[in-house]
Amino acid sequence: MDSNTLIAIDGYASTGKSTLAKMLSRHYKLTFIDSGSLYRGVTFYALEKGLFENDQLDKEALKEELDFLKLRFKHDNGDLFLNSENVSKKIRLPDVSDHVSTVAALTMVREFILKQIRQMQNKNGMVVDGRDIGTVVFPDADCKFFFMARPEVRARRRFEELKAQGQQTTFEEVLENLVHRDKIDTSREISPLRKAVDAIEIDTSEMNADKVFALLVEKIDSKLNL
Ligand code: C5P
Repeated sequence: MDSNTLIAIDGYASTGKSTLAKMLSRHYKLTFIDSGSLYRGVTFYALEKGLFENDQLDKEALKEELDFLKLRFKHDNGDLFLNSENVSKKIRLPDVSDHVSTVAALTMVREFILKQIRQMQNKNGMVVDGRDIGTVVFPDADCKFFFMARPEVRARRRFEELKAQGQQTTFEEVLENLVHRDKIDTSREISPLRKAVDAIEIDTSEMNADKVFALLVEKIDSKLNL
């Protein structure tokens, strides 16, 4: 594998993108970047600073706050640090999930995150997952995948995950959040969630992570002549 290889995985919420991106990064010894967690980091910061009032975001205030916001991954375990605080768990809370797509639809936030991801590009190469990686962030990525799955399957998986973490939520709430985020993510004006023309579509509804992994490795090895 070339040292600066880029693999992009985009797709709908809870289709297994991050799980697979992590597995591929280990297999090919590439750096793993979960771009969704960066949008979650900004959203967590906005919520913590009280920038939402009755679900209305104070955009001007967020714009000023972005200058003071530093997001970094600790690469040995993938934990996300917001300034000096480890926010890896807090960015998964339902309040963040409920507001993240509104924050991610803002041009200033997308420009901010785009800059952060491009700065993370290093000589190891990367596996990056998100919504606009193959279309906007790295349109020249070496391999591009686009994940989808039936909403009920995605909600069931996410609900079980959250339950295992001890979070109080219901299957219906999880399903509603996924559908709501997909709607905002696909319909926003800037960098909407779209399949890149050269991305390979993968439906993960009927496959477990190991099966998807085997399929992706086969596609990547064949594309990169490994
Ligand atoms: O990947 P995850 O579901 O954690 O992403 C949370 C949210 O961040 C998405 O629903 C989307 O609104 C936003 N996002 C984005 N562009 C990306 C990654 C995530 O807009 N590249």
